[in-house]
Amino acid sequence: MSALTSLSAKDIAAGVRRGDFSAEAVVKSHLDRIAAVDAKVRAYLCVLADSARAAARAVDAKRAAGKALGTLAGVPVALKDNICLAGAQATCGSRILEGYKAPYDATVTERLKAADAVVLGKTNLDEFAMGSSNENSAYFPTKNPWDLARVPGGSSGGSAAAVAARMAALALGSDTGGSIRQPAAFCGLVGLKPTYGAVSRYGLVAFASSLDQIGPLARSIDDAALALSVISGHDPKDSTSAPSPARDYLAESAGDLGGLRLGLPREYLEGGLEPDMQGALESGLDALKARGASVREVSMPHTRYALSVYYVIAPSEASSNLARFDGVRYGARRHGAGGSLLELYEETRGAGFGPEVKRRIMLGTYALSSGYYDAFYLKAQKVRTLIKGDFDAAFKDVDLLVTPTTPSAAFRFGEKTDDPLQMYLSDVFTLPCNLAGVGGVSVPAGKSAQGLPLGLQFMARPGEDHLLLRAARAVEAAGLFSGEPDL
Ligand code: GLN
Repeated sequence: MSALTSLSAKDIAAGVRRGDFSAEAVVKSHLDRIAAVDAKVRAYLCVLADSARAAARAVDAKRAAGKALGTLAGVPVALKDNICLAGAQATCGSRILEGYKAPYDATVTERLKAADAVVLGKTNLDEFAMGSSNENSAYFPTKNPWDLARVPGGSSGGSAAAVAARMAALALGSDTGGSIRQPAAFCGLVGLKPTYGAVSRYGLVAFASSLDQIGPLARSIDDAALALSVISGHDPKDSTSAPSPARDYLAESAGDLGGLRLGLPREYLEGGLEPDMQGALESGLDALKARGASVREVSMPHTRYALSVYYVIAPSEASSNLARFDGVRYGARRHGAGGSLLELYEETRGAGFGPEVKRRIMLGTYALSSGYYDAFYLKAQKVRTLIKGDFDAAFKDVDLLVTPTTPSAAFRFGEKTDDPLQMYLSDVFTLPCNLAGVGGVSVPAGKSAQGLPLGLQFMARPGEDHLLLRAARAVEAAGLFSGEPDL
């Protein structure tokens, strides 16, 4: 493997700025790596080799002209295929958007480009980000680079696999109920879901608008911090974007942990943890305490309703958001000769959406229908407020919450596909964070007996994403996790 693909995003940007190597050489080494291993891993739905080379050359030309380069100079980045890049596909892992080309850049894409990053390609995902394993992609399942018989997690599994397999230095994903943190945990990466509103969703295809956030998947805290600094900050094009200015998360995440109070929510651990995960949690807590943090137990009594609440609210919002895919405006269209407009809708949606998406649309439409709205959607919103209340109360006593990211390490293909509830349960630890709108991060904290990555999750008050990174940095520094997948 060429040394350039082993470098962090931070070191690539520094090296390109100094002139140690060109952005073009960095892109070439990553394209070579993709050619060598992506046939096995299948992280990318499309590789944009020509535009990536051209963008890298433009960065090199900018440097040659004596201009200052951006934070992510020459850094090869992968984008989940539900984030728009002008002129490129945005399938959302669905047949219904096959052939669709995004007419504009998402705000995050625009900001990456402005920071001189180079977009390498679009990565695989569960259809419309609905899933936890990538098995719901309409195209093919991405494999976990640590064990090709296992899932990379989902829905941002392609982004996670690309970064873990050194096919990109950095990637963006989206997280509605865990879709950045869970694949990060399964692939041995740092995955950050920022506070709701911290990053613009303009140009992200909406799944559940009150829950969706874009965030980075990276091999280090530094890289996640750099990426967050670039993509965050107010955007007038997204009305849910918080009116906060850009921040330097690299600097803000560097402080020590002296005096930091950590809370361990009792209810997350009630069922007991698998021994490997328990070990990772304890080692992580030791590392945090050794750096000056204190740990106490807290109670979040409404945690047990989070899964049910999520599976009413997320499908309800999805059923509304996905109504726009009707065969008229976007992507694929199916229409028998002489058929009516209704038949066009029915044929397009019937053929274009996969089974999990149809299940969610049916669940959501039912929960929103008159007569059932109060019993399901309205009640779920009320319980959501109680869950949020648990977080508010906990954050009066502690600065951060710490939990495992997932109940177990990456599972095998097919292990949970027959039982949607088992699949949904992969996200029990990550869902409440989205319901409360707070930020969460997953950081590698060890390996299972089979050598698979295990992640710990931190959650913080809204707007305190720098604290997430600061705490995760202490776990990273403890060296509980190392190595790279052997491909
Ligand atoms: N796995 C969860 C779901 O299927 C979360 C997905 C996500 O965060 N996009 O809805």
